[in-house]
Amino acid sequence: MKLKFQKLIATSLSAAFFLTACNPDEDFLDPTNDLSSQNRIANSESIIDVNQSDLLARLSLNPNIEGLVIDEFPIDLASAVEPSECAPTAFNDVISQSVSSNIDQLGQDFYDLYTTINQLYTFIDEDPQYFGANGEYNNFIKQRVKNLEKFWDMKGEITVRGQHNSTLNDRDKIALVYINFAGLSEEDAYANADDLLAINEASTFLPESPLMSFDGFATSGDLIVIGDGLVELASAAGVEDKVVWSGIMAHEWAHQIQFDHFSLWYPNGAADNEPEATRTTELEADFIAAYYLTHKKGATYNWKRVEDFFELFFNIGDCSFTSPGHHGTPVQRLRAAEAGFQLAQDTFPKGHVLDVNEVHEIFLNQLDGIVSGDSL
Ligand SMILES: [Zn+2]
Repeated sequence: MKLKFQKLIATSLSAAFFLTACNPDEDFLDPTNDLSSQNRIANSESIIDVNQSDLLARLSLNPNIEGLVIDEFPIDLASAVEPSECAPTAFNDVISQSVSSNIDQLGQDFYDLYTTINQLYTFIDEDPQYFGANGEYNNFIKQRVKNLEKFWDMKGEITVRGQHNSTLNDRDKIALVYINFAGLSEEDAYANADDLLAINEASTFLPESPLMSFDGFATSGDLIVIGDGLVELASAAGVEDKVVWSGIMAHEWAHQIQFDHFSLWYPNGAADNEPEATRTTELEADFIAAYYLTHKKGATYNWKRVEDFFELFFNIGDCSFTSPGHHGTPVQRLRAAEAGFQLAQDTFPKGHVLDVNEVHEIFLNQLDGIVSGDSL
C-alpha cells in the first residue's frame, strides 16, 4: 500500500478560495465497494481479517475545506520510517525513533486517515480549549495569546486551538467529523467511529503516536492550531517546550497578519510562481515571528533560544525546492529570522513596536538579501 501523506497545502495566499484537502489515497475509493458492508468490525481481533483496502475505503474522507490553510509540517511517514538523505537532523532522528518504536501495519495503512480526522476536528471543535495532553500549557498559552494580541494590536481576533491524540479515541468527536465533512448520517458516522476505536485497540501506533497530533497551521478563518505531538517531539529534539509553543504561535500569528493585509501587501500575489510565493510569505512569517519573539515587549527571548528553535524547525525535511509548499531553505529561513531579530534590536532603545505595515516594508526591502545571502 502506498504511503502518501497529503495534508492541507497552501496553494497561494489570497482572500478566499477552495482547497481540496486531505485526500486519503483515492486509489482506495473503489466505487464497487459495498459501503454498507456486512464486514463491519465488531471487535479488535476481527479487524486483521478484514480486507484493509475495503475498510479504508469505507472510512475515507475527502472533504473540501473552504478558505486557506497554511500547513507547516508535512511529514512523509515512509521517510520517517526510513530517513532520507534530505535532512539527517536531530528533529528527524527523534521523529524516526518515535515512529519505529511502535509502528505497525495498521499504523502505516491508517496514518493519513487518522491525521486527517484529527486535523478536521479542530475546524469544528467548540469545546473549551486546552494545550498539552493534560492541559499543562493552558496558562502559558493564555499569556502568550494575550501578549501577541497586545503586541500586534489584534485583541480577540484569533482563535487558538489545541490538537490532541485523545480526539482519535473519542467516539463522539470522530463521529462529528464524519457527519460534518463526509455528510454521513449519525448512524453511519458512529459506526465508522466504532471501527476506528477497534483499530485503536488492535494497533500499537494508533492513536498513541505523537505523529497523530504533529500539526501546526493557520487558516484564513482566523484559526491557529497547534498539536501536542509536534511540541512533544520538538522538545525531545532539544528545544525547550515553551520556546516551541511560542515559536510556532509567533509564526502562525504572522500568517494571520498576512491574511489580514494580503491584498494591500501583495496586490499581485507574493510572486508570479507558487514555490516563490510560498517562500516569500514563509520567510516573511519567520521575519515577523523573530521580531516578536526577541522584542522586549514581545516574548523577550534572547537570540540563542530563538535561533535554536528556528534551526530545529527549518530542518524538517523540506528538500522539495520546486514544490508549491516549499518554505525556503534552512539558510534562507535563518537569515529571515535573524533579520527580524536585528530589527527588534534596532528598535529596542525606544521600546517601540513597529506597525505591521512598517515591518512588512522593511522585510520587502531585505528580501533579496535574505534569499541570496548577498546583503544583510
Ligand atoms: Zn508558515
